[in-house]
Amino acid sequence: MDFETIIGLEVHAQMLTDTKIFCGCSTKFGAAPNSHTCPVCLGMPGVLPVLNKKVVEYAMKMALATNCVINKSCEFARKNYFYPDLPKGYQISQYAYPLAEHGYVLLETNGEQRKIGITRIHMEEDAGKLLHDEHNPVSYVDLNRTGVPLIEIVSEPDMRSPEEAADYLKRLHEILVYLEICDGNMEEGSFRCDANVSIRPRGQKEYGTRTELKNMNSFRNVQRALEYEIKRQQYLVENGETVVQETRLWDDAQGVTSSMRSKEEAHDYRYFPDPDLVPIMIDDAWVKKINEELPELPPAKRERFIKDYQIPAYDVGVLTADKALALYYEEVVKLCNKPKVASNWLMGDVMRFLNEDKRSIRECPIKPESLADMIKLIEEGAISGKMAKEVVEDMYKTGKSPQEIIKEKGLVQITDEGELVKAITSIIEANQAQVVEYRGGKEKVFGFFVGQVMKATKGKANPQLVNELLKKMLAG
Ligand code: ADP
Ligand code: MG
Ligand code: ZN
Repeated sequence: MDFETIIGLEVHAQMLTDTKIFCGCSTKFGAAPNSHTCPVCLGMPGVLPVLNKKVVEYAMKMALATNCVINKSCEFARKNYFYPDLPKGYQISQYAYPLAEHGYVLLETNGEQRKIGITRIHMEEDAGKLLHDEHNPVSYVDLNRTGVPLIEIVSEPDMRSPEEAADYLKRLHEILVYLEICDGNMEEGSFRCDANVSIRPRGQKEYGTRTELKNMNSFRNVQRALEYEIKRQQYLVENGETVVQETRLWDDAQGVTSSMRSKEEAHDYRYFPDPDLVPIMIDDAWVKKINEELPELPPAKRERFIKDYQIPAYDVGVLTADKALALYYEEVVKLCNKPKVASNWLMGDVMRFLNEDKRSIRECPIKPESLADMIKLIEEGAISGKMAKEVVEDMYKTGKSPQEIIKEKGLVQITDEGELVKAITSIIEANQAQVVEYRGGKEKVFGFFVGQVMKATKGKANPQLVNELLKKMLAG
């Protein structure tokens, strides 16, 4: 049977504020358990939440960046359920009146654009964390995370394959990080995703029954979980069974999903407006102010890079994948005015060093000025490309400027014609057989002569000059 896959994603992103959404406690990750708590986020009786304005503004940024309509008024609601990591017995979230709705993200594959709808974006507080003891039958509760601000971004069921879902997730992640409103760390849970998936016979209008997948902590795992789940659903349908609506957990080690709870066990959250918090009114002036604060977003940056720097789309993709890398690149190009050469050095040697050391571009010991200087030295013929390989490695190891390194190592290129002519003359004399071959039409031998000159000059000869001189002198 020919099936079509339908996927909709619910993404939770932690907002990068210093303090929690309804109290002044720190949001910093990794502190001693329960050290970042107060009566408000512990849900003590008689306390009152006070909304962190920054959370609203960050959420507004994401709403604008994903083409949503920001509602003129929205409100918080209580989502009631019991769990040991939720001391109040309810989570403050948004329900009937969310912050923003009706947005979209554009995906581009092979030059073709696809619009993925965003149903809504709302704000909410995170719950705490349970820590299960591996050796004893006890669990501990850490409430540092209770009250940490989140936004939830709910998509329309618009995706048609696991790759497309992963692509959409990467776009959302990229926007959040570019906006500097989320650190995007999937392992620490700052960016998490629940994936809803169903299948239907191609051509059928109605959606099939969906399952919801949880517990994937990387883009790759989201894709793997979806691929597994689609196969599982297809197997059921092809064997005359039915898919049941349920929540399933992804098991990374086994590579399978398994049932966590069925629809019958689903909670009735009894949402109602939180009486402790007033509705939030958002006027046009506020939206306009936030809109003006938006940085250049990835699609616009990519377009500008292609236009201004005339570098291949592949390079643009790599360079703009990280905002800091894009900034670094632009600084180098501003100083040396060699866009493609700069891209090659950055994507090649520099990124290889960084990857080997698991460092980000922010921790790169090579300053943009130094990389630009080195590129200029190659262009001027002061050093060869081969020497530059050595120089860039030294720059990375020591943080020194290329000029310093060249001086210390005596790496000066031989551009003196007289000296090169002398070397070539003796090489020609010593290799008469090859000279005859070359003159007889065997042009491949040319490379042999280049190699000999480089060997004789310990790689210091200017390659362009060597080429010119060799051509002339071999011609006889
Ligand atoms: P819930 O409140 O139970 O989470 P929603 O209606 O809010 O349900 O939908 C949650 C997500 O599921 C949304 O991202 C939506 O696009 C997606 N979704 C809804 N129906 C389907 C379906 N039949 N197949 C795949 N995804 C779906
Ligand atoms: Mg859901
Ligand atoms: Zn607190």
